[in-house]
Amino acid sequence: MSSVETFLSLLGDIPVQTVPALVKRKSRDFYWYSPVLKRQLDSCFGDCIVMPRNEEDLLHIARVARETKTPLTPRGGGTGNYGQAVPMEGGAVVEMTELNKLLWVKDGVARVQAGMNMLDLDRALHERGWEVRMYPSTKRTATIGGFIAGGSGGIGSVRWGGLSSPGNILGLRFVTLGENPEALELRGSDARGILHTYGTTGLITELEIGVEPAVDWQDMAISFGTFEEAAVFARDIALQAGIQKKLVSVVDGDLPPFFASVREHVPDGASLVILMIAPAGIETVKALAEAANGHLCYEANTREAEDTSGATPLYELTWNHTTLQVLKKDRGYTYLQCGYPHVGTLEKVAEIRALFPDDLMMHLEFFPMGGHVSCAALPVIHFTDEERLNYIIAEHEKRGVNIANPHVVTIEEGGMHRVASPALAAIKKRYDPMLLLNPGKMLSVKTLKAEG
Ligand SMILES: Cc1cc2nc3c(=O)[nH]c(=O)nc-3n(C[C@H](O)[C@H](O)[C@H](O)COP(=O)(O)OP(=O)(O)OC[C@H]3O[C@@H](n4cnc5c(N)ncnc54)[C@H](O)[C@@H]3O)c2cc1C
Repeated sequence: MSSVETFLSLLGDIPVQTVPALVKRKSRDFYWYSPVLKRQLDSCFGDCIVMPRNEEDLLHIARVARETKTPLTPRGGGTGNYGQAVPMEGGAVVEMTELNKLLWVKDGVARVQAGMNMLDLDRALHERGWEVRMYPSTKRTATIGGFIAGGSGGIGSVRWGGLSSPGNILGLRFVTLGENPEALELRGSDARGILHTYGTTGLITELEIGVEPAVDWQDMAISFGTFEEAAVFARDIALQAGIQKKLVSVVDGDLPPFFASVREHVPDGASLVILMIAPAGIETVKALAEAANGHLCYEANTREAEDTSGATPLYELTWNHTTLQVLKKDRGYTYLQCGYPHVGTLEKVAEIRALFPDDLMMHLEFFPMGGHVSCAALPVIHFTDEERLNYIIAEHEKRGVNIANPHVVTIEEGGMHRVASPALAAIKKRYDPMLLLNPGKMLSVKTLKAEG
């Protein structure tokens, strides 16, 4: 028997799936956004899918995986971008979506199982008068566990910062693959150590997160004659303490033609500011837009759009959905993730736009940074070849713009420091000493391998 056959034979009544077409499908995420990762990961698949129903199942899976040396790759909605959920050394895909309950919510804190879909979570919270502080633009398909293990921020970040900002994730429970697999609870900074580690440090079962009182958000799109005017207006809205907002995005005039749901409302060539605003702020935003030569070209209720099949809430034109809207029409594009400095932000954006008029369609997302307002950019890049892509990255970095590179598979190379992290290696050694969790995604294990 192969080790995977032995693994499967020891699982008892835990549901499994081995139909090759299904296993292949569940071994994919959105890595193909990157032509570089596409080449690297197209041939990587798991051998089977396991579908734990509860923590007990996960503990059993962890024990059997150790016994049979079977790699485990956790999976939520499979919307990660960097091949995060693609098994690079075969083994089992661990489908987490049966752990999908809201456990409790009280005083601005919610406890939730990690496989719960983000839209289901938000709806369940809404019924109780609350909502999630932040969600990825993949809210309709992603899970909360996948967001925490693979994402970084999104809709709501303009108010609450990133997932790693202290206060957003209060605690988590996870199953380890240590000598005696166990379920552990971590809180505060220890819990934050597990964020964005692509499931390489444990199988998250529950999360405790900050939530906020529910708001009836309104989608607003405001067009401007130039990108510069749009960016100045967006930054101004992001800075206005008296206006409650969930989203402040800007897209270049080349992008709205790719947005099937709103393009007919946008004047030709106009740049767009995309907002989610609380009802009390709408009148003020309209007045400020008029004073800034902006034109309100589209308005809708966010939740109504979200709940209507075929409709597109405006947040599905923002964050990493901007790139998706372009890729739906033309696979010749890819993207970057850039962090702009909070001083001279818009001047720097202008400098980069001027450098790459033919390569890059600019897209900004505003959020707070160290007491200031700054922005991330997720520009859509016309892909010519890898050399040009690396040149564009290098030119950003030379000019003080940080790049979180979405064209690499490891946690560290996709971050800002790009070197092995002793702290991460120590976490790995403690919770997964046999290196069975999502192998190939952590550069720091090289230090462990060197130690023997
Ligand atoms: C169109 C598009 C838009 C996006 N927008 C955003 C955005 O706005 N903000 C953002 O941060 N990201 C964004 N992303 C990336 C991705 O959607 C998010 O990170 C999302 O939250 C991932 O959730 P998921 O359930 O699909 O995770 P998956 O893709 O299934 O998994 C992501 C990673 O987490 C691990 N994982 C999953 N569940 C668990 C668990 N329970 N325990 C341990 N590890 C686990 C997986 O192994 C994998 O490494 C976007 C991606 C796309 C394609």
